Amino acid sequence: ERRKLIAGNWKMNGLRAAGLELAKDLAGRLDAAGSVKFDMLVCPPATLVHSVAEAVAGTPLAVGGQDCHVAKSGAHTGDISAAMLADSGSTHVIVGHSERRQNHGEDDALVSAKASAAHQAGLVAIVCVGETLEQREAGKALDVVGTQVAGSIPAGATAANTVIAYEPVWAIGTGKTPTAADVAEVHAHIRKAIDGRIENPGQARILYGGSVKPSNAAELLSVDNVDGALVGGASLAADDFWGIAETC
Ligand code: 13P
Repeated sequence: ERRKLIAGNWKMNGLRAAGLELAKDLAGRLDAAGSVKFDMLVCPPATLVHSVAEAVAGTPLAVGGQDCHVAKSGAHTGDISAAMLADSGSTHVIVGHSERRQNHGEDDALVSAKASAAHQAGLVAIVCVGETLEQREAGKALDVVGTQVAGSIPAGATAANTVIAYEPVWAIGTGKTPTAADVAEVHAHIRKAIDGRIENPGQARILYGGSVKPSNAAELLSVDNVDGALVGGASLAADDFWGIAETC
Protein backbone atom coordinates (compact mmCIF):
# COMPACT_ATOMS: atom_id res chain seq x y z
CA GLU A 1 0.00 0.00 0.00
CA ARG A 2 1.40 3.36 -1.04
CA ARG A 3 1.29 6.06 1.62
CA LYS A 4 -0.30 9.24 0.32
CA LEU A 5 1.75 12.41 -0.11
CA ILE A 6 0.02 15.76 0.32
CA ALA A 7 2.31 18.37 -1.19
CA GLY A 8 1.84 22.13 -1.24
CA ASN A 9 3.36 24.20 -4.03
CA TRP A 10 3.32 27.78 -2.80
CA LYS A 11 4.57 29.03 -6.19
CA MET A 12 5.65 32.71 -6.00
CA ASN A 13 3.71 33.35 -2.81
CA GLY A 14 4.85 33.84 0.74
CA LEU A 15 6.71 36.60 2.52
CA ARG A 16 8.59 35.64 5.65
CA ALA A 17 6.03 36.28 8.37
CA ALA A 18 3.08 34.60 6.68
CA GLY A 19 5.13 31.74 5.26
CA LEU A 20 6.66 30.85 8.59
CA GLU A 21 3.31 31.10 10.32
CA LEU A 22 1.69 28.76 7.77
CA ALA A 23 4.48 26.19 8.00
CA LYS A 24 4.51 26.25 11.80
CA ASP A 25 0.73 25.92 11.91
CA LEU A 26 0.86 22.79 9.71
CA ALA A 27 3.78 21.30 11.63
CA GLY A 28 1.91 21.88 14.87
CA ARG A 29 -1.18 20.11 13.53
CA LEU A 30 0.95 17.17 12.41
CA ASP A 31 2.61 16.92 15.79
CA ALA A 32 -0.72 17.14 17.59
CA ALA A 33 -2.32 14.53 15.31
CA GLY A 34 0.36 11.96 16.07
CA SER A 35 -0.13 9.16 13.57
CA VAL A 36 -1.68 10.22 10.26
CA LYS A 37 -2.29 8.38 6.99
CA PHE A 38 -0.30 10.80 4.84
CA ASP A 39 3.06 12.44 4.44
CA MET A 40 2.97 16.22 4.16
CA LEU A 41 5.33 18.48 2.24
CA VAL A 42 5.46 22.22 1.64
CA CYS A 43 7.43 23.81 -1.19
CA PRO A 44 7.88 27.50 -0.32
CA PRO A 45 9.64 29.98 -2.57
CA ALA A 46 13.43 29.54 -2.50
CA THR A 47 13.83 32.59 -0.27
CA LEU A 48 11.98 30.78 2.53
CA VAL A 49 13.23 27.21 2.20
CA HIS A 50 15.89 27.55 4.86
CA SER A 51 13.87 29.47 7.42
CA VAL A 52 10.84 27.22 6.98
CA ALA A 53 13.01 24.11 7.27
CA GLU A 54 14.53 25.47 10.49
CA ALA A 55 11.13 26.41 11.87
CA VAL A 56 9.66 22.93 11.36
CA ALA A 57 12.79 20.89 12.11
CA GLY A 58 11.99 17.88 14.26
CA THR A 59 8.36 17.73 13.07
CA PRO A 60 7.04 15.41 10.33
CA LEU A 61 6.51 18.33 7.92
CA ALA A 62 8.89 18.04 4.96
CA VAL A 63 10.19 20.98 2.95
CA GLY A 64 11.03 21.14 -0.74
CA GLY A 65 12.06 23.46 -3.53
CA GLN A 66 10.06 24.36 -6.63
CA ASP A 67 12.82 24.03 -9.23
CA CYS A 68 16.55 23.44 -9.47
CA HIS A 69 19.36 23.91 -11.96
CA VAL A 70 21.00 20.89 -13.57
CA ALA A 71 24.49 21.85 -12.36
CA LYS A 72 25.83 21.58 -8.80
CA SER A 73 27.28 25.10 -8.89
CA GLY A 74 28.73 27.57 -11.34
CA ALA A 75 28.11 30.69 -13.39
CA HIS A 76 24.31 30.55 -13.54
CA THR A 77 23.04 33.87 -12.26
CA GLY A 78 19.73 33.61 -10.48
CA ASP A 79 19.63 29.83 -10.46
CA ILE A 80 19.64 27.48 -7.48
CA SER A 81 21.19 24.02 -7.41
CA ALA A 82 19.71 20.88 -5.93
CA ALA A 83 22.68 20.71 -3.57
CA MET A 84 21.79 24.21 -2.29
CA LEU A 85 18.20 23.14 -1.68
CA ALA A 86 19.40 20.07 0.21
CA ASP A 87 21.84 22.22 2.17
CA SER A 88 18.94 24.52 3.10
CA GLY A 89 16.85 21.71 4.55
CA SER A 90 14.92 20.47 1.52
CA THR A 91 14.23 16.79 1.01
CA HIS A 92 12.21 17.22 -2.21
CA VAL A 93 12.14 19.40 -5.30
CA ILE A 94 9.45 19.91 -7.93
CA VAL A 95 10.78 19.72 -11.50
CA GLY A 96 9.02 20.27 -14.80
CA HIS A 97 6.01 22.11 -13.45
CA SER A 98 3.90 23.31 -16.38
CA GLU A 99 4.58 26.91 -15.36
CA ARG A 100 8.31 26.22 -15.80
CA ARG A 101 7.68 24.36 -19.06
CA GLN A 102 5.55 27.26 -20.37
CA ASN A 103 7.23 30.34 -18.89
CA HIS A 104 10.82 29.14 -19.12
CA GLY A 105 10.71 26.87 -22.15
CA GLU A 106 11.67 23.75 -20.22
CA ASP A 107 11.46 20.54 -22.24
CA ASP A 108 11.48 16.89 -21.22
CA ALA A 109 15.25 16.52 -21.63
CA LEU A 110 15.92 19.45 -19.30
CA VAL A 111 13.37 18.20 -16.78
CA SER A 112 15.03 14.78 -16.82
CA ALA A 113 18.43 16.39 -16.22
CA LYS A 114 16.98 18.40 -13.33
CA ALA A 115 15.46 15.26 -11.80
CA SER A 116 18.84 13.56 -12.11
CA ALA A 117 20.54 16.53 -10.43
CA ALA A 118 17.98 16.26 -7.63
CA HIS A 119 18.82 12.57 -7.18
CA GLN A 120 22.56 13.32 -7.10
CA ALA A 121 21.88 15.77 -4.28
CA GLY A 122 19.85 13.20 -2.37
CA LEU A 123 16.50 14.87 -3.06
CA VAL A 124 13.24 13.29 -4.12
CA ALA A 125 12.26 14.69 -7.54
CA ILE A 126 8.58 15.44 -8.06
CA VAL A 127 8.31 15.26 -11.85
CA CYS A 128 5.28 17.08 -13.26
CA VAL A 129 3.45 16.15 -16.44
CA GLY A 130 0.10 17.11 -17.93
CA GLU A 131 -1.71 17.99 -21.12
CA THR A 132 -3.11 21.34 -22.25
CA LEU A 133 -6.80 21.82 -22.97
CA GLU A 134 -6.10 21.83 -26.70
CA GLN A 135 -4.29 18.50 -26.39
CA ARG A 136 -7.10 16.97 -24.34
CA GLU A 137 -9.75 18.16 -26.77
CA ALA A 138 -7.74 16.66 -29.63
CA GLY A 139 -7.82 13.30 -27.82
CA LYS A 140 -4.08 13.39 -27.20
CA ALA A 141 -3.94 13.53 -23.39
CA LEU A 142 -2.62 10.00 -22.89
CA ASP A 143 -0.06 10.34 -25.69
CA VAL A 144 1.22 13.67 -24.39
CA VAL A 145 1.50 12.47 -20.81
CA GLY A 146 3.13 9.20 -21.89
CA THR A 147 5.72 11.10 -23.94
CA GLN A 148 6.43 13.48 -21.05
CA VAL A 149 6.88 10.58 -18.63
CA ALA A 150 9.19 8.77 -21.05
CA GLY A 151 11.31 11.88 -21.60
CA SER A 152 11.34 13.40 -18.12
CA ILE A 153 12.40 10.47 -15.93
CA PRO A 154 16.19 10.00 -15.73
CA ALA A 155 18.19 6.82 -15.39
CA GLY A 156 18.51 5.90 -11.74
CA ALA A 157 14.92 6.81 -10.86
CA THR A 158 13.38 4.67 -8.11
CA ALA A 159 10.10 4.65 -6.25
CA ALA A 160 12.00 6.18 -3.35
CA ASN A 161 13.61 9.10 -5.19
CA THR A 162 10.93 9.94 -7.75
CA VAL A 163 7.29 11.02 -7.51
CA ILE A 164 5.18 11.76 -10.58
CA ALA A 165 2.59 14.54 -10.49
CA TYR A 166 -0.17 14.56 -13.09
CA GLU A 167 -1.33 18.14 -13.47
CA PRO A 168 -3.59 18.84 -16.43
CA VAL A 169 -2.60 22.38 -17.43
CA TRP A 170 -6.24 23.41 -17.90
CA ALA A 171 -7.07 22.40 -14.32
CA ILE A 172 -4.36 24.51 -12.68
CA GLY A 173 -5.81 27.53 -10.92
CA THR A 174 -9.06 27.33 -12.90
CA GLY A 175 -11.38 25.55 -10.48
CA LYS A 176 -11.90 22.90 -13.16
CA THR A 177 -10.97 19.29 -12.53
CA PRO A 178 -11.09 16.19 -14.69
CA THR A 179 -13.70 13.57 -13.86
CA ALA A 180 -12.65 10.76 -11.56
CA ALA A 181 -12.79 8.45 -14.59
CA ASP A 182 -10.42 10.69 -16.56
CA VAL A 183 -8.00 10.89 -13.65
CA ALA A 184 -8.11 7.10 -13.26
CA GLU A 185 -7.39 6.64 -16.97
CA VAL A 186 -4.36 8.93 -16.98
CA HIS A 187 -2.94 7.60 -13.71
CA ALA A 188 -3.26 4.01 -14.94
CA HIS A 189 -1.49 5.07 -18.12
CA ILE A 190 1.31 6.66 -16.08
CA ARG A 191 1.61 3.56 -13.89
CA LYS A 192 2.24 1.53 -17.06
CA ALA A 193 4.55 4.15 -18.57
CA ILE A 194 6.88 4.14 -15.55
CA ASP A 195 7.38 0.39 -15.80
CA GLY A 196 11.00 -0.07 -16.86
CA ARG A 197 11.75 3.60 -16.12
CA ILE A 198 11.37 3.68 -12.36
CA GLU A 199 12.75 0.90 -10.21
CA ASN A 200 9.94 -0.68 -8.22
CA PRO A 201 7.19 1.05 -10.27
CA GLY A 202 4.35 -0.41 -8.25
CA GLN A 203 5.57 1.49 -5.21
CA ALA A 204 6.05 4.85 -6.97
CA ARG A 205 3.65 7.58 -5.95
CA ILE A 206 1.61 9.36 -8.60
CA LEU A 207 0.03 12.60 -7.39
CA TYR A 208 -2.88 14.48 -8.92
CA GLY A 209 -2.67 18.28 -9.11
CA GLY A 210 -4.99 21.00 -10.42
CA SER A 211 -7.68 22.82 -8.42
CA VAL A 212 -7.59 20.37 -5.51
CA LYS A 213 -9.55 21.76 -2.56
CA PRO A 214 -11.15 20.31 0.58
CA SER A 215 -14.50 19.82 -1.18
CA ASN A 216 -13.15 17.67 -4.05
CA ALA A 217 -10.17 16.05 -2.35
CA ALA A 218 -11.99 12.99 -1.00
CA GLU A 219 -13.19 12.01 -4.47
CA LEU A 220 -9.88 12.71 -6.25
CA LEU A 221 -7.76 11.01 -3.59
CA SER A 222 -9.88 7.87 -3.67
CA VAL A 223 -9.28 7.29 -7.39
CA ASP A 224 -7.17 4.22 -8.24
CA ASN A 225 -3.46 5.06 -8.58
CA VAL A 226 -3.88 8.52 -7.04
CA ASP A 227 -1.27 8.52 -4.30
CA GLY A 228 -1.63 12.07 -3.12
CA ALA A 229 -2.10 15.62 -4.28
CA LEU A 230 0.06 18.50 -5.45
CA VAL A 231 -1.83 21.56 -4.29
CA GLY A 232 -1.31 25.17 -5.34
CA GLY A 233 -3.80 27.81 -4.22
CA ALA A 234 -5.39 25.74 -1.47
CA SER A 235 -1.99 25.06 0.10
CA LEU A 236 -1.68 28.72 1.10
CA ALA A 237 -4.27 28.47 3.89
CA ALA A 238 -3.63 26.02 6.72
CA ASP A 239 -7.30 25.08 7.11
CA ASP A 240 -7.70 24.29 3.40
CA PHE A 241 -4.47 22.35 3.09
CA TRP A 242 -5.11 20.43 6.28
CA GLY A 243 -8.69 19.82 5.16
CA ILE A 244 -7.39 18.21 1.97
CA ALA A 245 -4.96 16.00 3.89
CA GLU A 246 -7.64 14.93 6.32
CA THR A 247 -9.65 13.31 3.51
CA CYS A 248 -6.91 10.64 3.14
P1 13P B 1 -3.86 24.92 -8.06
O1 13P B 1 -4.08 23.94 -6.92
O2 13P B 1 -3.82 26.34 -7.63
O3 13P B 1 -4.79 24.64 -9.19
O4 13P B 1 -2.37 24.63 -8.61
C1 13P B 1 -1.99 23.33 -8.89
C2 13P B 1 -0.53 23.31 -9.14
O5 13P B 1 -0.05 23.81 -10.13
C3 13P B 1 0.32 22.69 -8.11
O6 13P B 1 1.62 22.50 -8.57
